[in-house]
Amino acid sequence: DIQTGTNFIRQIVEEDIHNGKNQGQVVTRFPPEPNGYLHIGHAKSICLNFGLAYDFNGTCHLRFDDTNPVKEEQRYIDSIQQDVHWLGFDWQDHLYFASDYFDRLYEFALSLIQMGKAYVCSLSPEEIRQYRGTLTEPGQESPYRARTVQENLDLFQRMAAGEFAEGEHVLRAKIDMASPNLNMRDPVIYRIMNQAHHRTGDTWHIYPTYDFAHGLSDSIEGITHSVCTLEFEDHRPLYDWFLDQLGVHHPQQIEFARLNLNYTVMSKRKLLQLVEQEYVEGWDDPRMPTISGLRRRGFTPRSIRDFCERIGVAKANSMVDMALLEHCLREDLNKRAPRVMVVLDPVKVVITNYPEDQVEHMEAENNPEDPSTGSRQLPFSREIYIERSDFREDPPKKYFRLAPGREVRLKHAYYITCDKAVYDDKTGDLVELHCTYDPETRGGWSEDGRKVKGTLHWVDAQQAVPAQVRLYDRLFTAPVPGSGEGREFLDDINPESLRVLDTCLLEPGLEKAAPETHFQFLRHGYYCVDQSSTPDTPVFNKTVALRDTWAK
Ligand code: ATP
Ligand code: MG
Ligand code: MG
Repeated sequence: DIQTGTNFIRQIVEEDIHNGKNQGQVVTRFPPEPNGYLHIGHAKSICLNFGLAYDFNGTCHLRFDDTNPVKEEQRYIDSIQQDVHWLGFDWQDHLYFASDYFDRLYEFALSLIQMGKAYVCSLSPEEIRQYRGTLTEPGQESPYRARTVQENLDLFQRMAAGEFAEGEHVLRAKIDMASPNLNMRDPVIYRIMNQAHHRTGDTWHIYPTYDFAHGLSDSIEGITHSVCTLEFEDHRPLYDWFLDQLGVHHPQQIEFARLNLNYTVMSKRKLLQLVEQEYVEGWDDPRMPTISGLRRRGFTPRSIRDFCERIGVAKANSMVDMALLEHCLREDLNKRAPRVMVVLDPVKVVITNYPEDQVEHMEAENNPEDPSTGSRQLPFSREIYIERSDFREDPPKKYFRLAPGREVRLKHAYYITCDKAVYDDKTGDLVELHCTYDPETRGGWSEDGRKVKGTLHWVDAQQAVPAQVRLYDRLFTAPVPGSGEGREFLDDINPESLRVLDTCLLEPGLEKAAPETHFQFLRHGYYCVDQSSTPDTPVFNKTVALRDTWAK
């Protein structure tokens, strides 16, 4: 049930189809570099690219942009595939690797050399930078620009054969050192890297740069619309130049604004830092904005797709409020998450007028938003637990929960009245509450229609299941981490982003729920089963509170 609205990119594609461009075909691609896990920003690009293919009966390729062997790893390739599938998208048999094109890219480079459009430059990296000039000053031509085709072919082939050290030579496109666009000032297209590649092993000693590899990979795959983020707008003339010089299939590059989300960071470099310096427990820590972190936190694929649809696709950068993402999640979970009772900070209640050995079962609806989900039976007996914060010796105004002499409703069960609070002599801590119940109020209502304002959740003392519950808050305290004067993003880490509760009590049966199952803990919020959970030691993660802070 992929749902897509309109946006300026869809309009371009629609027009192209209308005009018979590319024989009316639509081929897009999602091209991650396997140097980290996917994050919510990538989800925007995934929804857009796969969404276009879905809408226009086209195909969307998953292409690993694996041209930089230093930072790339197989485990990233695996996680990326898993995450794209989890989001609900499928590349079918269109899985590609830019590294599979290394031979062809090399041939393209040889062609450019033969046409006199590329040369081997032997300036040092530092000199290349100096020669490039600035926005206000034209660049200076490299003395090696005058090398003959023969000389260039010979040197380039020897670069490929591994005869030189890193940094000794590069291959550059011969374009225009006076171009106002810095990207056009003889950009580097191949550099020497004496590095093994995770797929091609020791075959190569030279690797193509992004600008060279990306557009030509698009071309090789017959991509029609190459959708990328705004920072590549300045690279488009270069993207076009390579394709034009080589006279190959020419996809259209279209740029859109990347997703920026407040209270988090999305650069893979920063995310890697959080993992490596152990600010979080891994890439899939529930506080991470990664797809796997969001999944573990309890986000659903539908809520993320809905979010990506609502933020839209625009040409201008902007900041999106985290509260919108949470709003989309609540909307989905409200419809689908079963309601259950869990006491996070328990205090015992003894119902003194309830028969000692009696156990009865109360019917509890699973989800009032979806009656088809039916109901379950909850055990109830003389001793139960309620939330410690649901009792006050001296209740303030508007506190409608339990207090001495006060009557409240136990959800799905009976009305109870508090007769006595028992405190520990030494510590003064509340030990237990003694209450009486009204047998005439079974199911949680009374025929005389008397008013009870408070409704409390509870669990049966004998059958409740102990569990750990992890409460998460935002990972950063600042809307834009590190944006303050002289601050680094790590300075804005929220020191209280994780609180672990070890004495929680679940209603029986919940301990058997599979990892990633979603629930609404009544009166608390949405929670899900952590991947480490077992029936013997259940662990739940807080996904999001009930209260919606999104201002429409
Ligand atoms: P980073 O800067 O964090 O390393 P990246 O853009 O280099 O991210 P890639 O793996 O190259 O990461 O990204 C794959 C695709 O996802 C690219 O087409 C890129 O434009 C897109 N993408 C990455 N981040 C965002 C974002 N925040 N919003 C939208 N699209 C994004
Ligand atoms: Mg990239
Ligand atoms: Mg990157």
